[in-house]
Amino acid sequence: MSKLLDRSPLSPTADLKRAGLKVTLPRLKILEILETAEQHHLSAEDVYKALLAEDTEIGLATVYRVLTQFEAAGLVTRHRFDGGQALFELDTGDSHDHIICIKSGVVAEFKDEKLEERLREIADELGYELRDHSIVLYGVHREIES
Ligand SMILES: [Zn+2]
Repeated sequence: MSKLLDRSPLSPTADLKRAGLKVTLPRLKILEILETAEQHHLSAEDVYKALLAEDTEIGLATVYRVLTQFEAAGLVTRHRFDGGQALFELDTGDSHDHIICIKSGVVAEFKDEKLEERLREIADELGYELRDHSIVLYGVHREIES
C-alpha cells in the first residue's frame, strides 16, 4: 500500500542550532512557516506571502537567501518539478516520492515499499547499488476533475 505522509511540527530554534546556523529572526520565521504550513512544498514567494499574512516584513530577496542557506545546511530540499518554479520542503531525512495534480498544482507525498524494492532490483540488474531515487507522478486529482 502506498500511503500519504504526515508530519508533526518540530522546534525551529533547535533545528537551526542543530544545522549550525545562528538564530536570526528571518531564519526563525521562515523555518516556522516551513514547519507549520499545511502545504509543505513552498516556493520562495509562498513563504514571502505567508510572512506578510502574519505581518512579518521580510523581503523576497532575504527569503531566497535564507532558503538557499537552509538548503546548504541540509535543512531543506529544493525541488524543481517539471521545470516549474523551485519548491522547498523540510528535509526530514525520510525518502519519499511526489505526486502532483497538473490542474491545481498541489503536491502530495507517498512512500511505497514495493516500489522501492523494485527500484533496488532494477538498479541491481543494471549493476548498480541504489543510493537515491526521485520519482514524480503527474495526474489529475479525482475531486478536481469532476
Ligand atoms: Zn516532499
